[in-house]
Amino acid sequence: MTTIDHAIVLGGSIAGLLSAAALARTADRVTVVDRDVLLLDGPEATLSRRGVPQGDQVHHLLSLGHQRIEDLLPGISEELIELGCERYDDVADFSQFVAGAWRMRVRSDLIVTMFRRPVFEWALRRRVLALPNVEAVKGMAVGLLGSEDRSRVIGARVRGVPGGELRGDLVVDATGRGSRSPYWLEDLGYARPEERHVRIYMGYSTYTVRLPEGALPKGLAGISVSATPANPFGVAIRPCGNGLHDVAAYGMAGNYPPEDFAAMEGFFEGLNSPIIAQVLKKATVTSEIVPYRMPGNQRRMWEDLDRRPEAFVVVGDAVTSFNPIYGQGMTMAALGATVLGDTLEKAGSVTGVAGAVQAELGTLAQVAWDLAVGSDSVYPQSEYENAEPPSARDKDRARAQSAAQSAEGTVRVAVRATALYMDPSFLEAPAVREVVDRWLETGRVPDASAGDPLDPPAVTEGYVGSADLLLGRVV
Ligand SMILES: Cc1cc2nc3c(=O)[nH]c(=O)nc-3n(C[C@H](O)[C@H](O)[C@H](O)COP(=O)(O)OP(=O)(O)OC[C@H]3O[C@@H](n4cnc5c(N)ncnc54)[C@H](O)[C@@H]3O)c2cc1C
Repeated sequence: MTTIDHAIVLGGSIAGLLSAAALARTADRVTVVDRDVLLLDGPEATLSRRGVPQGDQVHHLLSLGHQRIEDLLPGISEELIELGCERYDDVADFSQFVAGAWRMRVRSDLIVTMFRRPVFEWALRRRVLALPNVEAVKGMAVGLLGSEDRSRVIGARVRGVPGGELRGDLVVDATGRGSRSPYWLEDLGYARPEERHVRIYMGYSTYTVRLPEGALPKGLAGISVSATPANPFGVAIRPCGNGLHDVAAYGMAGNYPPEDFAAMEGFFEGLNSPIIAQVLKKATVTSEIVPYRMPGNQRRMWEDLDRRPEAFVVVGDAVTSFNPIYGQGMTMAALGATVLGDTLEKAGSVTGVAGAVQAELGTLAQVAWDLAVGSDSVYPQSEYENAEPPSARDKDRARAQSAAQSAEGTVRVAVRATALYMDPSFLEAPAVREVVDRWLETGRVPDASAGDPLDPPAVTEGYVGSADLLLGRVV
């Protein structure tokens, strides 16, 4: 096992905090650097902060990320519930209206936890910064320090700390999508990583509401009406803790939702189902609308560098950032931290760790990328820069998803599990593949006449375990 004296993590959001937790197992000392003060106490500690402009947008955590975070910070799931976050079965208790039809509901093991992102980040922060060997400092990272022969990173240039620099045995970049580290690397004499983009130009307008008892159809914790290429606007209403719900209005392919309440009512009326307008008529608004626009999926190919300095690793959105509708970012952050921690523990020295971490993270990022890009590709306006449109197989997957409102609980659970575990092998389970192949052969499309847009289906009898699908226990 490698032991290191001092690890420096640039960025103290989800990827940075989780990486610090993972590094604290092998490093004597971990310093987390953020341009914001990372508050632990007081009412502002659980509010959105400047360095994370997406903080007020709805954030749902995939099951894979949740598992990894629980491994890194045991007990965090229960702490979230104590903080008022809400847990429910994402297949049975959440209804989705997609492409003109409701997806069926069945009890499953796909339990998700919903929260407001600043509360979640604070819950992680107070756990990580309570570790005896982790400390946070305020500062702006502006570059890397190289060894004399520039073969190794030996620290970071940080504005705002005494001496303007921090020195350590390992530097981790977790500064997010806008990370400058490709240029920092160039300053040390290395090539920048190749960048890939699949742009879908999407926008959110998010606010919170209190819904009275009975506003949502019976038994539902939340509801969504999805965008389609024919009507590129959608809304998701999801619990966000302490009895409140996030209303996330969104638009795809350069179509943006309104940014003021006056225009919202008309917007809801124009969705693929009038149910959102109906539910929200009963809501009490508890926040302003916070808009956010972003171009789409961005990937930096850190794993493909021919030459890299030792002791410098990049994680989180600084590696890959996706169309957020698929909720993959925090999970990739958790995977990055896990791979980093595990690789360091197994390695005999820091040398070689950077290349090994980026390679493994690249493989995981490719899976997430294919899922996101496969789904975005249904919009003909998607723009591909340095990236291939999805393969026929990925398009099949996207079509299987669109057929998931069928009465076959196995397919419904497999589709959701693929997203929540970022693992397409659920769709390859024989019990699922057989049905999906039949649909694809017969050119099946969702049956838009199957249900009333104002009446989500009841929960079907029975239970489908996603784990059983992979083990072949469902036939
Ligand atoms: C609209 C929207 C909705 C989203 N919804 C979801 C969702 O539902 N589920 C999900 O999993 N993900 C979602 N994401 C993605 C998610 O926000 C990120 O993947 C997640 O925050 C992990 O990012 P990160 O820690 O790498 O970077 P960030 O969260 O962006 O944090 C970067 C940190 O680095 C600091 N920093 C930046 N530059 C410097 C510097 N030079 N020096 C010092 N500090 C610096 C910042 O202050 C900040 O704390 C969404 C994103 C957007 C934009």
